[in-house]
This record gives sequence, structure tokens and C-alpha cells, in this order.
Amino acid sequence: MNEHLDAQEGLDHVADIFGHEDMRRGWGRGFLAGRLSHAHLIGGPEGIGKGTLARNWARLLLCAQPETGTDPDPRACGECPSCSKVASGNHPGYLEISSEGGGTIEIARMREILSFLALRSDGRRVVLIDSADQLREESANALLKILEEPPGETHFLLVSHRPASLLGTIISRCQRWLLGPLSRDSFHEVLGRHGISEERASFLYRGTGGRPGAALALEEALTRCGGEESFSRLLREIPADPRDLVALTLREGESFDRDSVHRTLQLLGNGIWAFRGNTVESRQVAATRALMLTHLAGHLGRYGSPDLVVEAAAMVLRSENPENIRELIPRVLGSQWV
Ligand SMILES: [Zn+2]
Repeated sequence: MNEHLDAQEGLDHVADIFGHEDMRRGWGRGFLAGRLSHAHLIGGPEGIGKGTLARNWARLLLCAQPETGTDPDPRACGECPSCSKVASGNHPGYLEISSEGGGTIEIARMREILSFLALRSDGRRVVLIDSADQLREESANALLKILEEPPGETHFLLVSHRPASLLGTIISRCQRWLLGPLSRDSFHEVLGRHGISEERASFLYRGTGGRPGAALALEEALTRCGGEESFSRLLREIPADPRDLVALTLREGESFDRDSVHRTLQLLGNGIWAFRGNTVESRQVAATRALMLTHLAGHLGRYGSPDLVVEAAAMVLRSENPENIRELIPRVLGSQWV
């Protein structure tokens, strides 16, 4: 369910999607009428379920016998030869481009799209980019050229956490779908499926503003570091080497890189936000701290150095009042900090 996990596991299952009913109906109607645009931009905050939704749509577009009687949206059957090929990762009509370790998407990956499109194909093709925020400038320009002359029967699904930051010329060529926070009921339903209690789900709703992927990631991190008490202690006793903070979120086989640093900052920000009011510091200070960490994660996005950003995050965590060190951060990052 977590977007990151989903990306690694591939398209092995049709995921249940909760909430966003109006948007899904809109897509479903377009699909059934054969009137979908060739390019789609799926935007919304991190951990809201964009990647899961985009991959469901990719499966549906390629499925040979979609189930169309399902409300609110049609879905892939999961059983036809096409669905089996998508599940095993060797469907000749499906290409997924994602950033390695959370880094930028280089121009070489755009050439990969061109090679994919140049191959003879008898059916529909789908190119999914997760996330389009990671495109380097020249990659974005190359993608724009591809979108300007769309090959027949090909659909592009672009996932973006910050759609407003994409090239306006790319945005204007896409049908846009914006995912907002889930309703409380839908959120509880998703978390219930993961065995999380009602009470716990309420706490996580507060911390993540109704983003189920972010909530599951936060829950996983809290469990990993031994529960809420240990998490609170970690926030009070920042390790001497700030890189050790990242160890909190590392999964088997992962290392300190842009992706893990980004995730750590999001988790710390969400955690502090969730615990605001439960700690000794004022809600105001906790909120500022959480926002600054989330902001740092955003700064890391394309060009920031993971080492320097972690250094700045440790400063935010250590200071009595992070407002007071706002001006020091650009000196650490060596760049503009707005
Ligand atoms: Zn199928």
C-alpha cells in the first residue's frame, strides 16, 4: 500500500482503492466511452495513494477483459494473459520509469521510452512515470516532445507530488487528476485492512492528515524503533552523527541515500506532527519543527545533498525553538532556503 513498497513489488495484484470516488468514476466513464486522453497527470501529496491508483489504471488499460460492472470504477480482471504478463513483469506493452534511490530521472530513461515506442506493437501501450517531479530539465523537455506527438494507442501516466512544479507545457497536455486526503471513514477502512485499531488509526489520521501511505509508513517506523515512547526519546536524544537518524527507516538491503533520507524526514515530520500536544514543547513549536522537516524533505527532492540536508534536519531537531535557526539553514545547505 505504501507507494515505495508498491513500486518495488511491481504490478502483481489489483489493489483495492478507497475514497476518491468522484475522480474514479470520471476516469471509469472516460475509459468505458473510449474517451480517455493519451496523457494523465495524477497529483497529490505523498503517501495519498497516487502510485497505487496509477498502477491499477495501467493494469486496467492493458487488461483483455476488464470487469466493467464494478462501481465506482472498472477494474482489471487479474486473470487474462495480459494481466498475467503485467503481473510477472514482462508485458511488452508496459514500461515503468521510476527514479533509482529517489534521485533524478536522467535523459537516458527518456530514450528508453523512445525505444519502447519504436517497437512494433499490436495493442495498447502504457508508460508510467513515478514520479515526474524527479525528471531533470532535459528529461522533462524530451518527455514534452514525446507528448507533443503521441503515438497511437499509447497512454502516459505521470505521478507527481508537486504537479505545480512541472513544466506548464507538460501539464497542459495532460488530463489532470488530483487526489486529496481521504475521508475519515475511508482512511479507517484502509488502515483496518492492515490490522490497525480504530484508536491507532485516529492517531495516525491526525499525524498524516488522511494520507494512508504516509500513515502506514509512520506506523512501521514507530514499530521499528520500539513504539511511541522510543520514538519520543529519539527526538529528545538526537544521535551525535545525524546520519544515524536514517537507520530508523532502513529496510533490509537499503542504505543511506536520497530516498531513505527523504523518507526519514517525512516520517520525523509526520511523527512530530502526530505527537504535538503530547509532548512538553508547545504545539506551535512542534508544528514549526514538523513543517521545517517536511520542507527540508522537499528541498532534497531534486538537487539537495542528502548529507547536508540530514545535518540541517538535526539542527532543527536539536534547537529549543527551530524558528531561531531558520537563518542558519541556508549556510548549512549552501543554497537558497525559502
Ligand atoms: Zn485482465
